[in-house]
Amino acid sequence: MQIFDIFRSIQGETTRAGLPMWFVRLAGCDLRCSYCDTAAARDPEAGRAMTVAEVVAAVSSPALPHVAITGGEPMHQVQEVNALVASLAANGSEILIETNGAHPIDVLDPRAVRIVDVKTPGSGMADRMCWRNLDLVTARDEVKFVLTGRADYDWSKKVLARHRLIGRTTVLFGAAAPLLDPATLSRWILDDGLPVRLNLQLHKLLGLP
Ligand code: SF4
Repeated sequence: MQIFDIFRSIQGETTRAGLPMWFVRLAGCDLRCSYCDTAAARDPEAGRAMTVAEVVAAVSSPALPHVAITGGEPMHQVQEVNALVASLAANGSEILIETNGAHPIDVLDPRAVRIVDVKTPGSGMADRMCWRNLDLVTARDEVKFVLTGRADYDWSKKVLARHRLIGRTTVLFGAAAPLLDPATLSRWILDDGLPVRLNLQLHKLLGLP
């Protein structure tokens, strides 16, 4: 598999925020989000080729109970990703797969927790969404909106209603830095009584990758 980087950090988002985990960042992404903070990983030839066994070995010392597979976009290497999930699950790890939402998620090994982006109009990539994914997510999965401003927030509320996401899965709302202040987003959430979880990107507050 083509690996951009493997590193340890504190998970900054999702319901696992605050947990130490391994991150396996795959190379290659077919989207070009306006706020992308991992542009170097979008090149499918960036990084180095590694076997699944080499990746498993790299995340085994020290052993951590959680591994996040991220990108770039993991769905471009789905066969290798599923082989990696199988090996890590056999070792007792919990595996999160962070995907950009543009590709059907039902091809992923069901042992992985799927963190699925919903690309808002402010990302410039809303027309690339695979909307069927919002019917496929379950209570184990999480759906993540990164918002660039009020228009994205209002659009996202309509998506929540149209796809009946509240109560069916975990919904994460985060602010795209520096376009939207998380404090402003939190006030909108409180004013509306919206039962979503605020994503704060803890790792960035801590100066971690
Ligand atoms: S999906 Fe992620 S890696 Fe791809 S362009 Fe968007 S922010 Fe960057």
